[in-house]
Amino acid sequence: MKKITLFIYSLLFLVMAKCVAQENTKVVLITLDGLRWQELFSGADPLLIANKEYVSDTTGLKEHFWHDSAKERRKALFPFVWKEVAKIGQIHGNRNLGSKVDLTNKMWFSYPGYNEILSGKADDARIDSNDKIPNPNKTILEITNTDSRYKGKVAAFGSWDVFPYIVNEERSGIPVNAGFELANGSDLTEREQFLNALQPRVPSPWSTVRLDAFTHHYALEHMKTKHPELVYIAYGETDDFAHDGDYEAYLKSANNTDTLIQELWHFTQNDPFYKDNTVFIISTDHGRGAEDLNTWTGHGSNVKDAGSVWLIMFGKDVATNGEVSKNEQLYSNQIAPTIADILDVKLDGKALN
Ligand SMILES: [Zn+2]
Repeated sequence: MKKITLFIYSLLFLVMAKCVAQENTKVVLITLDGLRWQELFSGADPLLIANKEYVSDTTGLKEHFWHDSAKERRKALFPFVWKEVAKIGQIHGNRNLGSKVDLTNKMWFSYPGYNEILSGKADDARIDSNDKIPNPNKTILEITNTDSRYKGKVAAFGSWDVFPYIVNEERSGIPVNAGFELANGSDLTEREQFLNALQPRVPSPWSTVRLDAFTHHYALEHMKTKHPELVYIAYGETDDFAHDGDYEAYLKSANNTDTLIQELWHFTQNDPFYKDNTVFIISTDHGRGAEDLNTWTGHGSNVKDAGSVWLIMFGKDVATNGEVSKNEQLYSNQIAPTIADILDVKLDGKALN
């Protein structure tokens, strides 16, 4: 009898342990390259949208994105963020309300920004260019992948072809699909095969950055079939359209990315592995100019305010504060410690509560 009871208890324990194991929170980290806080919180910029130098069809663009009120404009530009996320999560970085998010690196361009977000530390001494140099710092992706609980359950997707170096794909062993890479493997889904056929047939405007729809669908397909516990998706178009001085494309791309993120979120909420069990963290690698109308196309240490960024969080156990309207100072180097905290892995730094 005692033996049977013991057997039942150990069986119960096993079942409970399995339940607990399934309770692990998953994390989806997303970045939009160089998307300004000004558009996130106020929508289309009144001066830029009317400027012939940056917009060829102001009337057409205004039909999509213009309202007199900034709150209506931002809703038109980021409907998912302002109609859904504002109710279920927190949105930091509206400097007009006192909420500030800043980079701690002083470079204010991409590699240093992504290094800071992913490793939890600025490294201005070593990360001072966008060159394809394998990152000497360990990212939260690598640290998580080293943990036996998460081994092989981490993946990264990026539109920019420098991500394999930023994540140090070779050392970390994390699969990074970035730039113009195709999906590889012997078990590709029909959709991955189609993406592989389509990507080389759809020319990108840029030599080092692919269009975000490819990055997005490679990532989504991987999430559907492989169920990573931590996935990083780096959209890139917004920065490149801004450098091109094409405000119309910049706005349309920002608006499209909002829809892509909505699709990811709705996928996770309809997938048993991720449902009610996933946190989304969204941010950007740098800001861009605002002071003078002509500085919005660029960024870097010489562009005033290019270190001002923003941060969005929602999902499991994330407090529903909505748009933060109190004085606060957050930093991009808190993102990696926050992920470490959620996944219960070790990384020094101050997590967000
Ligand atoms: Zn840039």
